[in-house]
Amino acid sequence: MTQIVPVLIGDRWLVPDCEQSTPVHRPATGEVIARTPHCGAADVDRAVQSAQAAFPAWSRTPAPDRARVLFRYRELLESHFEELAEIVCRENGKTREEARGDVRRGVEVVELACGIGHLTKGDVLPELASGIDGMATREPVGVCAGITPFNFPAMVPMWMYPLAIACGNCFLLKPSEKVPFTANRLANLFLEAGLPPGVLGVIHGGREVVEAMCLHPGIAAVSFVGSSPVARRVYELAGQTGKRCQAAGGAKNVLFVMPDALDDPTIKAVLQSAFGCAGQRCMAGSLLMGIGDACDGLRDQVAAAMNMMTMGDTLAEDGVSMGPVIDGPAQERLVHTIGDVQKDMALVRDGREGVPENGFFVGPTLFDDLKPEYSLFSKELFGPVLGLMRPQTLDEAIDWVNRIPFGNAASIFTHDGGAARTFAREVNCGMVGINVGVPAPMALFSFSGWDQSFFGDLHVQGTEGVLFYTRQKTTLTRWQGATTAFTGVGDKS
Ligand code: NAD
Repeated sequence: MTQIVPVLIGDRWLVPDCEQSTPVHRPATGEVIARTPHCGAADVDRAVQSAQAAFPAWSRTPAPDRARVLFRYRELLESHFEELAEIVCRENGKTREEARGDVRRGVEVVELACGIGHLTKGDVLPELASGIDGMATREPVGVCAGITPFNFPAMVPMWMYPLAIACGNCFLLKPSEKVPFTANRLANLFLEAGLPPGVLGVIHGGREVVEAMCLHPGIAAVSFVGSSPVARRVYELAGQTGKRCQAAGGAKNVLFVMPDALDDPTIKAVLQSAFGCAGQRCMAGSLLMGIGDACDGLRDQVAAAMNMMTMGDTLAEDGVSMGPVIDGPAQERLVHTIGDVQKDMALVRDGREGVPENGFFVGPTLFDDLKPEYSLFSKELFGPVLGLMRPQTLDEAIDWVNRIPFGNAASIFTHDGGAARTFAREVNCGMVGINVGVPAPMALFSFSGWDQSFFGDLHVQGTEGVLFYTRQKTTLTRWQGATTAFTGVGDKS
């Protein structure tokens, strides 16, 4: 019988009694390895109650003691690093190197959270008014919820719960139903590190769980990462019950190549950006701007490098450079799109050909002469499909890019500092790369999407992540009989 993935409520892993479930695939082979249960509002309510019961003690736990649990967690993540990466490979299909990157980026957030005492220190102004001292402190917000996508089973959940919990909150995670095992293992290791029961819960399911989380009065904050239509809906629903919400959505990222940068490092970075994680990255470059004379050389060099890529099952073969997409529907959607847009554009490399027989594979695909008026220009495909555009000048390319409704990332490859500066200043998006193909800001900076790529105010991780998971309290203090004048200056001779 196919395994049903358990949920975590309090200190217990249990298999909920659900009518519906989703198959979990091993994308590299296509086989079904488990089923994710679709919990409902009653399960969410139980998990919220368990988290609410844990909140008073955890929120009052001194910051250094909370940090000690995170330090132990960080050690456990390191000692189980390869095991976690392998779980990611199995349920998501990434190559081993990509899966290691997925786990590593998450561990870095835990490392950030280990400094929680320092991160949440407040401000004091003695003598704010006559005889009154002012103090601003950061307090936890309560029970927080996180809803995550399939494409980074380790990193994206870890953008959320380590910082939220370090700040003194309790947290309920709803991972993507397509990749439930990584989240469960991550949660299990946190319990092993000494996290008190109820501080972290994992509830599996789909839309019903998400809506119940957004509307539950016992949840104070919702973090979401996924596609833009769902991000917008989550943001609106969370607002209905007055929750704070950060909702990161989809993207259409652009790679600019100036004629002076047509070299191996550029081609390598373009390939990694467009086809790394099989193009299933919210930071994946999917539009390639060959500026002016760069175009033909760029097309030929990129196409040649694409032909060297190998697809396969990273757990069974060495040297795999690209894994499958997540499931059958994703594969069918991409194959259909390639056939469809082929009518308008030249297909330089066809990802429908030469793919492994089993599994959900789509090969690296390159279209030439994509124009701003084509639907592919602003539609997120979320697969290994790259469209080459032919702007005459940098200004024309910037003008095109700024018409895209998303605002996640854009990169330029050049040796010209003036061009790089113009690009960085003028391009309308939240994450910019200069000779960097995937300008993901890692744990220390917030992941700063704009426009349709983000709904909310405070982004995940970094300083904004700490602000999101805390709220400010100001305390003004006056003590009768205390002096109001500063008399500390004296003659010590
Ligand atoms: P998705 O929006 O389909 O699912 C994300 C989460 O929302 C999952 O947990 C899913 O169960 C839930 N969900 C799906 N449909 C829902 C609905 N109708 N109502 C309520 N909840 C729903 O996204 P995905 O396919 O898992 O992931 C790919 C998307 O995520 C891409 O658009 C990608 O760009 C985006 N993404 C964005 C970032 C970022 O930082 N901006 C990072 C990673 C992925």
